[in-house]
Amino acid sequence: MQTTSIQYLKGIGPKRAKSFTARGVYTIEELLYYFPRRYEDRTNFAKISQLKEDQIYTIKAQVLAGGQRNSWRRRALSITEAVVGDNTGKLSCIWFNQPYLNKYLKVGAPLILYGKVERYNSRLQMSNPEFEFLDSQDDDSLNVGRIVPIYTLPQGFSQRSLRRLIKNALDEFLPKINDPLPFDLRSRRNLLNLAQSLLNIHFPQDLALQKQAHTRLSFEEFLLFQLPLVLRKLRRKEEVGINHVVNGRLIEDFISGLPFKLTTAQQKVLGEIKADMASAQVMQRLLQGDVGSGKTVVATIACLAAIQSGYQSAFMAPTEILARQHYEKISRQLEQLTFNGRKLRLVLLVGQDKQKQKIYQQIKEGKIDLVIGTHALLQEELSFKSLSFIVIDEQHKFGVGQRALLPKKGNHPDVLIMTATPIPRTLAITLYGDLDISVINELPLGRIPIKTLQFNQGQRNKAYALVKQELKCARQAYIIYPVIEESYALDIAGAKKMFGELKSGEFKAFRLGLVHGKLKAQEQNEIMLKFKNKQLDLLVATTILEVGIDIPSATCMIIEHAERFGLSQLHQLRGRIGRAKLQSFCILVSDTQTPEAKARLAAMVVSSDGFYISEEDLRIRGPGEFFGNRQHGLAELKIANPLIQMQLLKAAREEAIGLINQDARLEERPHQLLKAKLLQRFPEYERLMLVG
Ligand code: ADP
Ligand code: MG
Repeated sequence: MQTTSIQYLKGIGPKRAKSFTARGVYTIEELLYYFPRRYEDRTNFAKISQLKEDQIYTIKAQVLAGGQRNSWRRRALSITEAVVGDNTGKLSCIWFNQPYLNKYLKVGAPLILYGKVERYNSRLQMSNPEFEFLDSQDDDSLNVGRIVPIYTLPQGFSQRSLRRLIKNALDEFLPKINDPLPFDLRSRRNLLNLAQSLLNIHFPQDLALQKQAHTRLSFEEFLLFQLPLVLRKLRRKEEVGINHVVNGRLIEDFISGLPFKLTTAQQKVLGEIKADMASAQVMQRLLQGDVGSGKTVVATIACLAAIQSGYQSAFMAPTEILARQHYEKISRQLEQLTFNGRKLRLVLLVGQDKQKQKIYQQIKEGKIDLVIGTHALLQEELSFKSLSFIVIDEQHKFGVGQRALLPKKGNHPDVLIMTATPIPRTLAITLYGDLDISVINELPLGRIPIKTLQFNQGQRNKAYALVKQELKCARQAYIIYPVIEESYALDIAGAKKMFGELKSGEFKAFRLGLVHGKLKAQEQNEIMLKFKNKQLDLLVATTILEVGIDIPSATCMIIEHAERFGLSQLHQLRGRIGRAKLQSFCILVSDTQTPEAKARLAAMVVSSDGFYISEEDLRIRGPGEFFGNRQHGLAELKIANPLIQMQLLKAAREEAIGLINQDARLEERPHQLLKAKLLQRFPEYERLMLVG
């Protein structure tokens, strides 16, 4: 019934159906789950005579006069103006660059306006208010005299027509709707039933019920999200993995040969990983730690545990530059070690390797102990003799599907997943609910916090002066641009052109390099190598540097058009400096005026703590956007917000655990609807459901 296409609803033809499709709504059920983006309380309207500056109001008024003009100061700007009035006074409203509005603003037309009241030339006015005409002809009970939903409109709909459509669908289908949440769960958690929730999320009887509806629908979303995670964890616990030897000469020799002492946090995390590896249960552990917290060395030690147990390890990184860097560093660190009277055998495996076939052969025959590489490790032809341990670095750069491929090359190997975009622990436990979690929450001793400054474009010379000063002290620097080729339309400088300009101008006295994603891997490597060997002073680059690059003498970074980068991205970029005991500087160049971008830059200036940064990022962007590019199921959350509803998320997780423990296949009668809904949303879980 609910899976019927919305085309069968009255008032929806192929064209309107298509504009819904564009918003991911195909079925009537999905239409009922197309939630308002906000509400207006239209039971009481504010009186114009009582409006105060800087507050948001809904008013009901009539158009008294309208008109349109072009701004004399900026010719491109068109201004549509209307004077509206109620029985207490008049208010002027203006809209910028929406000239088509003018023809709607007919004198005498009754309308509802929503917006912020501002003071302009000593008068109060609303700029760009949202508005809706009232129609005295039809029944307006959906549109006034109640709390009214405001939707994001698919093309071809007005608020009024969409309200009518959804109301009709609710009237017809709510009486027949079945609740996927079992009755006992609902009463235990004090949750509204589905029909009432859907009704009150669209047309709330009052705000208290709207809130209850919101809670219930959020809970449902969290539960559907947790069930597969919990189930996956349960299934994994049933698998039999490998008992590794986690204490031994090899590891001891390595640790005592390090030029530093492991931090307390590194030791604690290492203990957790070792315990997992020693046990026969399969490890799937997420290692969170800020940039530079020393995750790689911990992962290397874990590889040694696998090697001394007689198995092979694989270490996968998201870019060739990073894979190569790991390979070189780890090779050097392991150079002096011997095991069973021989040296350790490492190999680098990246996309275009002429030796590929030979390397495959060696890996297959067990002549390699540790393979470090990129996605190339996922290739089908590659097989291992005895793969027992896997490291996945910067996991958010890989899709969930990709992450699942590598373990298939071993017999239930242990997996360590690393991320430098940490999120608060409680959140991580629930969001990555199929994984166990370790956190490195301190940086190695003696690091000096990076000084982060924000400059506007006019202060760029100051930034250049600072860089030059550092370069003269034999240090190195990066200048980062958001794009390779400049864009005149957007007025953005590009790395390629600026490289030319800087090289022959401002930084003539220094040795410059350029690296970006359009260069061949070979060329990228050569430039990185030169920079590393200090044959270059200054590297002009794009976000290709975002992950992992570790060059301790780089102490300065300028990020141009900083507003064009995401917060986590900025933090990652900044993590390329401040990697030794030297004062480092990060300069964000931006003229941005948008509040979101300002908030991002402000967060960067006040903090260099990755946990704080990612929390801010999540807060500024909201979960959908935040998790969007992490290929995380949470990107699809429609109503729930894990940051704000942490308690509810926890409750949903508890219920998910209870359900799975009691009835993993969700076969019992009260669970069948839930199962149907789950498979509808995540068809790939059919398989997990069936085994066991
Ligand atoms: P992450 O991968 O977490 O960003 P890395 O593992 O690349 O960090 O470590 C950053 C740098 O700090 C590396 O040069 C590494 O050798 C060094 N390092 C790691 N652990 C310590 C420690 N306990 N004390 C001092 N330096 C460390
Ligand atoms: Mg790293």
